[in-house]
Amino acid sequence: MTMTHRPYHFVAIVGGAIAGSVAAEILADNGIHVVVIEQNKKPYGKIEDGLPRWHLEQRKQEYSRIDARLRKPGVFLLPCTRLGRDLDFQDLCHNWGFSAVILANGAWRDRELGIPGAEEFVDKGLVYQNPFIYWYNHKNEEDYTGPHYQAPDEALVVGGGLASIDVAKILQLENYERVLRARGVQTNVYELEKKGVPAVCKMHGITPEDLGIKGCLLIYRRRGQDMPLAQPPENATPDQIAKTEAIRQKMLRLAQEKYLFRVQDRRVATGLLVEDGRLVGLKVAETKVEGRKAEPVAGSEYQLRAPMVISSIGSVPEKIPGVAMRGEYYDFNHETLPQYGESDHVFGVGNVVTGQGNIRSSLLHSQEVATKLIENYIGVADEGTTPARFYAGAEARGTAQAQAVRDRVQVMRGLSYHEVAAIEQRIRAFQERVGYTGDYDSWIASGTASITADQMDFLTDIALEATRQSSAAFYCTACR
Ligand SMILES: Cc1cc2nc3c(=O)[nH]c(=O)nc-3n(C[C@H](O)[C@H](O)[C@H](O)COP(=O)(O)OP(=O)(O)OC[C@H]3O[C@@H](n4cnc5c(N)ncnc54)[C@H](O)[C@@H]3O)c2cc1C
Repeated sequence: MTMTHRPYHFVAIVGGAIAGSVAAEILADNGIHVVVIEQNKKPYGKIEDGLPRWHLEQRKQEYSRIDARLRKPGVFLLPCTRLGRDLDFQDLCHNWGFSAVILANGAWRDRELGIPGAEEFVDKGLVYQNPFIYWYNHKNEEDYTGPHYQAPDEALVVGGGLASIDVAKILQLENYERVLRARGVQTNVYELEKKGVPAVCKMHGITPEDLGIKGCLLIYRRRGQDMPLAQPPENATPDQIAKTEAIRQKMLRLAQEKYLFRVQDRRVATGLLVEDGRLVGLKVAETKVEGRKAEPVAGSEYQLRAPMVISSIGSVPEKIPGVAMRGEYYDFNHETLPQYGESDHVFGVGNVVTGQGNIRSSLLHSQEVATKLIENYIGVADEGTTPARFYAGAEARGTAQAQAVRDRVQVMRGLSYHEVAAIEQRIRAFQERVGYTGDYDSWIASGTASITADQMDFLTDIALEATRQSSAAFYCTACR
């Protein structure tokens, strides 16, 4: 009797978060061996380090989805291993013997502010969004060793997308928590984010004006109604565009009312204000907006002084030695099956391909659902709206790309048993070096930051409230 078996394939995936884990699962379900190479101890990417920490429930859910995918038989994890530092890109692609290499390492480099000389002032008055949110999410952990920032009142945020609204909220929540606590009011960012600053103040018989916070200022180069907070449907009619613009304006207004940050739209940064070697603000001009174009208006320039400037104008993939770039992005030549340069076995999935976090949820959902998703995300949805899965879009895009890569891998020459065994042996040696035994669950449990006291208080408050409202038992997954 002749036995037929599927040919062996072994694929390396760089980055273990949404896109990497989706790809790992799809390949493993098709009998393909996979190693997920992740720079961090935990493979949660932007969910852990980019999604502000008040999204407790959403983080928990996304973590467990990633865990379930990476626990699949046939998936090896290689944590604490960074491509470009611990592994060489060319070596990985050409010498390890993998059937294919998939880059799923996301977009972690902030797009530069774009004013000549600005980079000199990084951490001297100028801060970029990615490290700022990383600091915010991790700063209360006992073993935190990353960068340290302040969140001063009257900071200047340059941006306009969702991430810049996160930055503005962080600044506001930090400042109001600080001054309220100084007055003896027991509150925290979780309560302030959920209920909003005016409501929390009211509960304590205070008005926000009493607290003397001036608030951060967000500047955006187009008009408020152009902010990419809601998207019109494909081939939208003028009516649909007008409706989308009204939705964007409403979202922005509600967010400002709830968190009290200031906005100046149609503004572009044109120069630096520098004193004693520090950035102390920006020169700013008004813009004339025509379609996608926003040009500075001659003679409209003025100065905006600020204790800190935070630039939040988009994230692009990090430069990795040996990885060819095309402009700000890696050299991928197709979005559906993102193939790297001339290579027939190196691909990309997820944010690393286009760098775009804010993908068009409307491609996946009706405009109404997509709008609810964003309203929930920025905290301005109606009371009682069930939070939808904000990351479903990222997952769906990763799935489509990973399926295309799987189809390509399946028609490649198979590896021999010995070739597979040799790769596996090499992976195990790398795993040993970083102290990973192959037991995914105990590795994750050992590195999971415990819930801090204020998170626990807040979750207990939600649980009590839910129990009061429905008299049904509230099962808090975050407290398990
Ligand atoms: C404010 C905000 C708004 C967003 N809006 C949306 C939205 O509307 N819709 C949407 O779909 N998405 C949105 N996103 C983006 C969302 O975060 C991404 O779509 C999703 O998380 C991308 O997943 P990913 O796996 O591609 O990348 P990431 O989550 O960035 O994961 C990349 C992984 O690769 C690892 N890695 C990086 N470099 C290396 C290296 N050199 N070696 C080894 N490992 C490495 C990282 O540690 C990380 O675990 C938003 C993000 C933010 C912060």
